[in-house]
Amino acid sequence: MIPAKKVPRAEVFKLIAAVRADVAHEADLKDFLLDMHQDSGNTSPQAVQEAVSDCYAGTSNGFLALVYELLTGRRVEVTGEPQNLFECPCCGFKTLDELLGAGDGGWDICRVCGWEEEGTRERDKHVSVNRGSMNQYMQRVQENPNVYYTLPWLKGRAQS
Ligand SMILES: [Zn+2]
Repeated sequence: MIPAKKVPRAEVFKLIAAVRADVAHEADLKDFLLDMHQDSGNTSPQAVQEAVSDCYAGTSNGFLALVYELLTGRRVEVTGEPQNLFECPCCGFKTLDELLGAGDGGWDICRVCGWEEEGTRERDKHVSVNRGSMNQYMQRVQENPNVYYTLPWLKGRAQS
């Protein structure tokens, strides 16, 4: 097997930003920049690239390799370290910049399941900022695979 070309994470973010700047509706691009705490009036390639880097800092290199392949048709090995984010108390994926009680933040919204981190650790408790309990969020994830199932391939029954 020919070794795959190595591509640093920053290069993938640059590619994603170039495509995003090209295809996104202007209002969506401005909303995205605001979400990433950037000046929505500055839609320069550099600003979009910074927002993309921020948004996908915690994603795996394998995921970024798939995105690169989807956009270019070329299979590569993505190199560099993903940011080690906090684990979402609801779904368990490492999606959160901040946790309540583990720093000065909190109130991040999980990009996998949509749960807003507000300190609750009881799975069946409903607190005001979220629209239901963690159990209800996970049920919604399971019931809406076309929205929430984000792994690239469907899993078969073979187990190792
Ligand atoms: Zn989550």
